[in-house]
Amino acid sequence: MRVRVNGTPVEVPEGSSVLAAVRAAGLEVPTLCHDERLSPSGSCRACLVRSGSAIVAACTTPAAEDADIRTDDETVAATVRRVVELTVERLPAAALDLPTELAAVCDQLGVGPEAFDGAGQGPGRGLGRDDSHPYVRLDADLCIACGRCVRMCDEVQGTFALTLVGRGADTVVAPGTGGPWVESACVACGGCVDSCPSGAISGPVPLPVAAAPTATVTRTTCGYCGVGCALDVHTRTAKSNPDPIPDPIPDPMTDPIPDPMADTDEPAIVAITPALDGPVNRGHACVKGRFAYDFVRSPDRLTTPLVRRAGRLEPTTWDDALALVGRELTRIRETHGPDSIAAISSARSTNEENYLLQKLMRTVIGTNNVDNCSRICHAPSAAGLTATFGLAGGTNAADDLDDADCILLVGANPTEAHPVIGARIMQRALNGARLVVIDPRRTGLARVADVHLRGRPGSNVAVFHGLARLLLDNGWVEEAFLATRADGWDELRALLDEYPPARVAELSGIEPAILAEAARLFGTARKPSIVYGLGVTEHAHGTDGVRTLANLAVLRGAVGTPNGGGVNPLRGQNNVQGASDMGALPDLLPGYQKVTDDAVRRRFGERWGTPVPPRPGLRIPEMFDAALTGKVRALYVFGEDILQTDPDSGHVRAAVEAAEFVVSQEIFPSATALAADVVLPGASFLEKDGTFVNFDRRFQRVRPALDPPGLARTDFAVVTAVARALGGDLGCPTPADALAECARLTPVFAGISHERLDREHALHWPCRGPDDPGEARLYEQEFATPNGRAQLAALPWAPPGESPDTAYPYTLITGRRLVHYNSGTMTRRTPNLALVPDEHLEINPDDALRLGLRDGDLVEIASRRGSIAAPGRLTDDVAPGEVFLSFAFPDVAANLLTSGETDEVTSCPEYKVTAVRLRKG
Ligand code: SF4
Repeated sequence: MRVRVNGTPVEVPEGSSVLAAVRAAGLEVPTLCHDERLSPSGSCRACLVRSGSAIVAACTTPAAEDADIRTDDETVAATVRRVVELTVERLPAAALDLPTELAAVCDQLGVGPEAFDGAGQGPGRGLGRDDSHPYVRLDADLCIACGRCVRMCDEVQGTFALTLVGRGADTVVAPGTGGPWVESACVACGGCVDSCPSGAISGPVPLPVAAAPTATVTRTTCGYCGVGCALDVHTRTAKSNPDPIPDPIPDPMTDPIPDPMADTDEPAIVAITPALDGPVNRGHACVKGRFAYDFVRSPDRLTTPLVRRAGRLEPTTWDDALALVGRELTRIRETHGPDSIAAISSARSTNEENYLLQKLMRTVIGTNNVDNCSRICHAPSAAGLTATFGLAGGTNAADDLDDADCILLVGANPTEAHPVIGARIMQRALNGARLVVIDPRRTGLARVADVHLRGRPGSNVAVFHGLARLLLDNGWVEEAFLATRADGWDELRALLDEYPPARVAELSGIEPAILAEAARLFGTARKPSIVYGLGVTEHAHGTDGVRTLANLAVLRGAVGTPNGGGVNPLRGQNNVQGASDMGALPDLLPGYQKVTDDAVRRRFGERWGTPVPPRPGLRIPEMFDAALTGKVRALYVFGEDILQTDPDSGHVRAAVEAAEFVVSQEIFPSATALAADVVLPGASFLEKDGTFVNFDRRFQRVRPALDPPGLARTDFAVVTAVARALGGDLGCPTPADALAECARLTPVFAGISHERLDREHALHWPCRGPDDPGEARLYEQEFATPNGRAQLAALPWAPPGESPDTAYPYTLITGRRLVHYNSGTMTRRTPNLALVPDEHLEINPDDALRLGLRDGDLVEIASRRGSIAAPGRLTDDVAPGEVFLSFAFPDVAANLLTSGETDEVTSCPEYKVTAVRLRKG
């Protein structure tokens, strides 16, 4: 479509706004309420332009073919100036001193201090501040009621926490609940902070400091969950560094900026903001990535190596610590053989560090005993998706959610565990996509779902077969797709005879009519998408769960087709996909190439200059068992607090104590570090160079905004130094070299490099060459199985490893919470602790009544392995007979309770089903 802007012809896409046309012409007009992330509202009228004979708001007016748009009309300019004068009339003149969009617009239009403070008649409105929240501050006097923050909260985050209150010129934003901000529904995603054009809403650091031009901005990738949000880290040095959380909180209008770090040259983070062009997050983040960074300079950081002497960990030099590691690992290898040493690699660390650690184990130590925490979360995804489709990753990019018309969300609570994706799914549901949630808990998304299938924990496979049976019975199966692209339909169809709705109801507790409605929504959708989480994998039959869930996508022809939303696991930790991709697995080399394949081993051996051991190594649970029997004598634990996060902690502790020598490479004195013989201080994601792979197989760059504190080193440097201490040379001087070497050995990563990622920001694997753009959507031609066809799985339901009984009548489900991440090691060392200071047991009010419990009463929770206590919180978000805990707090050590039951295929623990008994504490 062609329009003219100030007489110059401009081509714009059909449906463009006048504002888009103006910008396409390389011109700008003032805007205040406009934000590219939001629908236009036209409320501020600062973008008025002339279009033909009319004066219109450019942001809300569609450009018409041949429109004559003018931004240089004097009448319009005078009107805009008057509009802005009226907007600021009741604001304090000090608003002009803030580096805000409003101040910039005033500057551009020549609106000076005389327009403020009642047009020079008197001070501002006296509407007050709200400093109740640790991360989000409101100065109501600065609010111009443009509503951007409200729309950000509604249209991007989907929390609906904010509203505009008051009348006329006193209209301001406020929490919808009416009380202080901290007691509102706000989830502190920071969207309102980033969108506010006037400084009325700000973050913990006063705006002038965070936005000052002397700040350095480093683009990196979030180190919390597997969504992979692109973040900009703002750092400043020396005299201008403020305390991240000033106390008392300064008033940006009157107080000088504090300067507590004036005596140091060390840079400090003053803010982290989501990147507007972030490939996954598109300018959005959550409370963890956006605000929870104070841990990085916590006084608890490990800043020097520690060695155990006479039973105590004592600080020492790197030379001393590395010499001890080299001596002990050499002694144990020479005395007991290389397979007596095992390493647990880190899903929090970069690809390059994981690549180095598995190379260290295979080449310098000479064993395949290396694993990572995908073993205890998504190993069933890798195994199940590989068996069904051929590759060990999700099938589609997150972007495919944008046009899914039915999302089947299973065993995942993304509004808490993967908040940016949770918000995206919420928006899809609010905008017309049908949402079916399968989860024993009533999660945030279950509340807005069209159908919530609330099956008993451990019933997944039966429910998936029940849905498949209904797809078949109702003719919602894509027979042509099955005939041309899938195997195993006859076997599966025969098995489905055993799963009529009545039997599924017996096994799961789900009423047939609700199951039927879920099947109808999924079965009749144009583009159905499956998204799932640990509620599918962390079961005794987790791989069966993944495979039978994937059946549903195959039956609908919804994978590997333009109308297929695919099957997409929400990977838990920031780089759990990458740690496995890099071969930190006992049976697989980088790119999931089998160690049992002679040709693969030969190729790696030739490149690495040493043969790769042919026998698969031990999985994490097997490492613990082997430590107890003396087969494993040394454990090298890199970036994992296994004593808090792995199941049956008593068993894990016994294994750690049984090992002769334990190395912990960590950033905090975790329970595991405190039990180690040597502690090597590593670096956080904010101090590293490398890459992560997110949940949709996207490589993105990680860049250091800070140096590691004290004597701490990057984990890349530490693993390199450990190799040297053992007489080895890993041959990769830099992280870029490590990824380049990995890419040369791994066809599916062959086109990926730091240099290319610096240019292109993100690349999906497979990416087989320098000109390959990467495959965002897999299997469009054929599946990656040996015969190119999807393999349907005819696997019967089997009961969980541990079921409630008369002695232990309740089922404990463990999982994540929004504010604290995993073991809480990082988030508990930030103001997130003020938001959620402790853990509590979620219990259904009916059960509480039976047990004589009131809200807040201490509850003793006992399983066959141990007992802990936590305050109870009464909520029907958990079903009767079920209770819920996270393991973010060491004093509520949920993993003392969880069992050693594991998935029969992958050894992934059954975290989601633990039989417990409860008693008032
Ligand atoms: Fe980080 Fe995940 Fe939050 Fe994004 S959604 S900011 S990746 S924790």
